[in-house]
Amino acid sequence: MDFSIPAESEARHHAIGEFVRARLLPREPALLSAGFRAAEPELEELRGEVRAKGWWAPAVPAALGGLGLSLLEHALVSEVLGRSVFGHYVFGAQAPDAGNIELLHRLGNEEQKGRFLTPLVRGEVRSCFAMTEPESPGSNPTELRCRARREGGDYILDGHKWFVTGADGAGFAIVMAVTDPAAPPRQRATMFLVPTDTPGFRRVRNVPVMGRAGDGWLSHGEILLQSCRVPERQRLGEEGGGFAAAQERLGPGRVHHCMRWIGICERAFELMCARASSRTIEGQSRLADQPLFQATLAECRVRIDAARLLVLKAAWTIDQEGFAAAAEEISLAKFFVAEVMTGVVDAALQAHGALGMSDDTPLAFYYAHERAARIYDGPDEVHKLSAGRRILKRHGG
Ligand SMILES: Cc1cc2nc3c(=O)[nH]c(=O)nc-3n(C[C@H](O)[C@H](O)[C@H](O)COP(=O)(O)OP(=O)(O)OC[C@H]3O[C@@H](n4cnc5c(N)ncnc54)[C@H](O)[C@@H]3O)c2cc1C
Repeated sequence: MDFSIPAESEARHHAIGEFVRARLLPREPALLSAGFRAAEPELEELRGEVRAKGWWAPAVPAALGGLGLSLLEHALVSEVLGRSVFGHYVFGAQAPDAGNIELLHRLGNEEQKGRFLTPLVRGEVRSCFAMTEPESPGSNPTELRCRARREGGDYILDGHKWFVTGADGAGFAIVMAVTDPAAPPRQRATMFLVPTDTPGFRRVRNVPVMGRAGDGWLSHGEILLQSCRVPERQRLGEEGGGFAAAQERLGPGRVHHCMRWIGICERAFELMCARASSRTIEGQSRLADQPLFQATLAECRVRIDAARLLVLKAAWTIDQEGFAAAAEEISLAKFFVAEVMTGVVDAALQAHGALGMSDDTPLAFYYAHERAARIYDGPDEVHKLSAGRRILKRHGG
């Protein structure tokens, strides 16, 4: 295994890290408390700076206007961007758009690419991905209920979706709907490109998450599709191909998320070290001098380092051998890194005492919003089961 990157990438990597440190972190508290829509003009300016430096859309192929980094290189950049809540957004690498770009690039026809992919890559519109439903288990999307019935040259979509990240203000959604309920479970669903102003597409609300409904990109919408007419030319990929495409979309997405979580770990870890070094607990004795704290710190360190190596190994395997070869590693990394990240954030918050519960550090935001890491893109249990089955297969089980 070789995790080294070219010298030129190394230099860019450091420059990006410096940009995040100098330009994003100081503005983060104000931008976060303003809410997404109010922060958007300033975020747009920051995006302009990123474009001017030639760093826009690191994971997108160069032919489409991105940097065209390998997954391993992007993983390293993603860690640095993950240190700021707005890192991925400002660099045009945020979920769910990054995954949707990949889907459109792979499955879209020329007309769809011109209409949906080009403006998305340029950051002129945002998009969302609507698969999960309140009434069916998201952990088993073969049981989707949203239906798409053919009528003439169109499809009529009816269904109920929720936790559609960034639906508020998105220009279009990629909607998963069942086109053939009688087909084998993994061939029932199809993806559709649905502009959010299509009659019958309605965002009911932003679902409050741990006390905040958020707005814009920092929100999760509940969507009703009621007799929503979508022309056949807006079907993305083949009929019945939605499930397989969703699985592939989530592959690189999981690696991106994992490295963003490592970035969060590092930020929380630094905050914890800084706080412990300055906070006196008993006379002149600091939190950093307490053996119990030192042990916690060491445990966090080893878990972050182990988590990083796991993700880099998955990214390297994907770059060398493709997604199928890395399925087990992706599953292992997904649940392990999510657990490590939520644990490190919790330890850092604990070390800050009441300050950790306040919004004066990003830890409370992370604690509330990143807990979801153990649920989305496949809950822990689903990845443990999947990896367990693959391991047993290799061992004749
Ligand atoms: C912040 C956030 C953002 C999201 N963004 C999006 C988005 O943009 N688009 C979208 O479509 N969806 C999104 N989701 C939804 C997410 O993908 C689903 O929540 C996830 O797939 C789980 O589905 P569910 O919530 O229906 O849980 P369920 O399927 O009801 O599962 C509930 C729990 O059961 C347990 N479980 C499941 N299977 C097993 C098993 N085999 N054995 C043991 N235990 C098991 C797990 O602990 C799981 O958490 C988001 C969710 C969150 C929290």
